[in-house]
Amino acid sequence: MTTMKAVIKVRPEYGAVFAEAPLPKVGPHDVLVKVQAASICGTDLHIYQWDDWAAHRIKTPQIMGHELAGEVIEVGREVSQIRVGDYVTAETHIPCGRCFQCKTGRPEICRNLKILGVDTDGSFAEYIAMPELDAWKNSPRLSPEVAAIQEPLGNAIDTVLAEDVAGKTCAIIGCGPVGLLAVAVAHACGATTLVATDVNEFRLDLARKMGATHALNPAETDVVKEVLDLTHGDGVDVMCEMSGNARALHQGLAMMTPGGRASLLGLYKEPPSLDLNNEVIMRGIRVFGVTGRTMFGTWFKAARFLESGQVDPRPIITHRFPMREFDKAMDLMASGNSGKVVLLPDGAGA
Ligand code: ZN
Repeated sequence: MTTMKAVIKVRPEYGAVFAEAPLPKVGPHDVLVKVQAASICGTDLHIYQWDDWAAHRIKTPQIMGHELAGEVIEVGREVSQIRVGDYVTAETHIPCGRCFQCKTGRPEICRNLKILGVDTDGSFAEYIAMPELDAWKNSPRLSPEVAAIQEPLGNAIDTVLAEDVAGKTCAIIGCGPVGLLAVAVAHACGATTLVATDVNEFRLDLARKMGATHALNPAETDVVKEVLDLTHGDGVDVMCEMSGNARALHQGLAMMTPGGRASLLGLYKEPPSLDLNNEVIMRGIRVFGVTGRTMFGTWFKAARFLESGQVDPRPIITHRFPMREFDKAMDLMASGNSGKVVLLPDGAGA
């Protein structure tokens, strides 16, 4: 066997193709994984649609995707911890190991960071090679689709738990898959009034299922006023901005109580303009920029949340497609009428 089927960004333009690709080369520190499930991230949609960010970042041709779970079928000669037969998921940061951040315990913000499926060939394929360092061993009790979404669950965990939420009022702005996972984490960790906002009713319904006490649509209601009413005029203690929408960011800040904590994860197409004096500084807001999972403190939390059942992401996984139907999956993601969408290689269980 020398080739496999994969979703390939062939040219720097909209779309991708499902075609034959060479089997990935396994370097001395790499493991080769047979993909059992590969979930779609918003980043993949940016790459598929070929927006400005993708045009500046992605080099074609490249296999798309970075979220996955699967079985290790080969290991490089220097690999020491991972064995053939291990059931793994990918941490997707590939740090250099040499820079200041790497040497001081923050490899996830490495100065020379590469990202699996962004700077390297990815997971929308029958097989993927990745550094041993990035292979996270899963409990066999987790299904491949649940194991695959530990990576975005980690983003949600770091956003919600930049500080504690127990006994606090909390707003999650934006209910895409990571926002929905954030709702689940905040619920599991003892947030009291837990508000979720989105303009999509399908996603608001999912937010209610994941534990939101109030799911509000800013296209239909004055969400700032509603949140102030729900919190006795105080505003929420914690605001997690997951939407990357500038208007939603302003609303999120306005619904916070002075002295509250804001965690920002959503990425903005254009730099948003903020009245820092009045929206942040004079209100004593603590702002955390969240770039995603720590290696590997976040992963232990994610795995424990899933294994204990305290976070059950299954309602968020709304659609599954054979990998060859990735076009349909991307269109569905773009519509907003989905939670997490999972691609299954031929022969992988539905
Ligand atoms: Zn580094």
